[in-house]
Amino acid sequence: MENIPAGNQFSFWVEDGLFIFLILILFILLYLIWKNRQQKNVQSASQKQVELIKEGFELSEDCILVLSPKLEVVYANKAMEKFLRLGEEYLFASFAVELKFKPKKEWVRFEQLLKEDSPQRGSTLRRYPNITMSIGDNKDEILVNLYFDISTSADQDHLAWKYMVILHDLRMKEAYKVSEYRHQITKLPNQAQAIEDMNAFYSRSHLSHNKLAVIAISIDQFSEIRSMVGYHQLNKIMIKLAKYMKDLANKREVEVYHAYENNFLLIVPEVFDDEEVNRLVDKIQNDLKAFYKVQDINLQLSTSVGISFYPDGNVGRNQLNNAYKALSKAQSLGMGRREYFSSVGGKFVFDEIKLYQEMPDALSNREFEVFYQPIVDAKTHEIVSAEALIRWIHPKLGMIPPYVFIPLMEKTGFIIELGRYILDEVLRQLKRWEIFRFKPITVSINMTMIEIESGNFVDEVRQKIAYAQVNPELLKFEITEGSAMNGEANTIAQFHRLKELGVGISLDDFGTGYTSFSYLKKFPADVLKIDKSLVDYILTEEDDRKIVQAMILLAHSLQMKVVVEGIENRDMADLLTVFGCDYFQGYYFAKPLPLFEIQGMLRQQSQKMGH
Ligand code: C2E
Ligand code: MG
Ligand code: MG
Repeated sequence: MENIPAGNQFSFWVEDGLFIFLILILFILLYLIWKNRQQKNVQSASQKQVELIKEGFELSEDCILVLSPKLEVVYANKAMEKFLRLGEEYLFASFAVELKFKPKKEWVRFEQLLKEDSPQRGSTLRRYPNITMSIGDNKDEILVNLYFDISTSADQDHLAWKYMVILHDLRMKEAYKVSEYRHQITKLPNQAQAIEDMNAFYSRSHLSHNKLAVIAISIDQFSEIRSMVGYHQLNKIMIKLAKYMKDLANKREVEVYHAYENNFLLIVPEVFDDEEVNRLVDKIQNDLKAFYKVQDINLQLSTSVGISFYPDGNVGRNQLNNAYKALSKAQSLGMGRREYFSSVGGKFVFDEIKLYQEMPDALSNREFEVFYQPIVDAKTHEIVSAEALIRWIHPKLGMIPPYVFIPLMEKTGFIIELGRYILDEVLRQLKRWEIFRFKPITVSINMTMIEIESGNFVDEVRQKIAYAQVNPELLKFEITEGSAMNGEANTIAQFHRLKELGVGISLDDFGTGYTSFSYLKKFPADVLKIDKSLVDYILTEEDDRKIVQAMILLAHSLQMKVVVEGIENRDMADLLTVFGCDYFQGYYFAKPLPLFEIQGMLRQQSQKMGH
């Protein structure tokens, strides 16, 4: 250092210092670039999520706010922007609006409420129905339904969303009363509340990708129970039932509602496995069986259940309706049943209005096709008959099953048009088989009450048979037991007239309605078709065996033949042959087949039998 001149010493010192300074600046720069990039990555990741969120929520009437773990605004939908009067640059900025809520008596700041670490029942969703809130300095108290979903899965470092806040502004409802959202007797939230809650559940399900289940439960034979125990006891039963449901909801993540009268709704907002829902329903159906004691008598409550899952082909708001549809199907099958709403393959939900509009064209475009399901002799297993079952082969949606469009057609009357078409097709086919010398088989056509009550049905059938020159004995009409019994008084006369044409009449789905013996005696049916649901457990259930045996005896005593539907295995067929059943129809023998396939079977059979 001594050898270095003083001026140089200074310049070295300056250069050294400058160097270190430059390095420092470089580091700072690099750090800033890194930080910036990091932030950009983070923002682009969260922007992607925002896009996803937007898709679902932009149009929602509810106010939706999504916040990052640091309470930055990741997203606010239009309704929320308006509700909170958010300024221009609120995205990715800290949430700056002061919100206060009054969950009990005290006002609580929004952040405090968010971070309260007592999620209800370990669920990530918190629900505060009818809570009072205020925004900023404004002293106005606003009544809202408030929901938080606190994501635990969000990757904290990547600014993914953590809090989703959903507000339902109840000022929008004119003359709103809390009592409108509660069932009067049981004080459980009612259907109106369920519909509002569902919006929040959907939003959540949309993000978590878990399913949402709606379970509609109905107490069977409610009016019978009421007439048995009186309304006072009935109210007690309902209150006890409500308590049972509430306890259930306290133990697992389920929301319970008393929709109306004997109908309860359960919403499972986060379904990981469909089987869970099944087990829950098992438990409820079982628990309610031995549920209530009136004096010393155990009142066995039987419940019918309809279930629908979101998404699984359910489009948002349809889900509740679809659960009810499943429920009504369950009820139509008897007591204590459970049905799932299913759209074919889980892919489509059929837009009923669209289908309705398309029906007339579909008929002229020949999109309807008659399938034939063989009916075999119980002893020889030879095909002696077939049931004509209609299929709609839709150019875009594929095969639409009859349970989707037949009820729709019945409602709109279009079934009459379709019925004519099927009759024409079947008569033409019977004639062809006769010309080509197939061994004669009878064909049965399903008909509805609307057709026979339409006035000139019998005359039309007479004309069509005459025109086709077909032996009327080869034709049968099937009417379901349920609808036959509900027909108007003069309908029986129409069936007698139909019978006089020489055609046969079958009573379909027998055992699902409540036919009286005297009615059955008057009804001119020659075939009784025992419903599949009665024979499903015939191999294991002694009671079912007794019922079916008795039905067969009853039919025979009225000179009717018996077809059992839904035979799916050999053991069932063998047992029913022993019981004296005359004919079988079921997948074990054949499914409903397109024309060329049943024709192939008939041909094969003729060759075997040497016809
Ligand atoms: P249905 O008249 O009781 O017809 C029997 C139904 O049971 C058919 O269902 C058939 O495919 C099904 N099936 C037969 N064997 C078995 C089996 O072993 N296992 C199972 N799981 N199912 C079996 P499909 O074709 O879906 O028809 C359903 C209902 O739609 C029919 O019940 C009938 O009420 C109505 N339908 C069908 N075609 C027509 C029609 O052309 N006109 C009218 N009015 N109704 C029709
Ligand atoms: Mg039928
Ligand atoms: Mg049937």
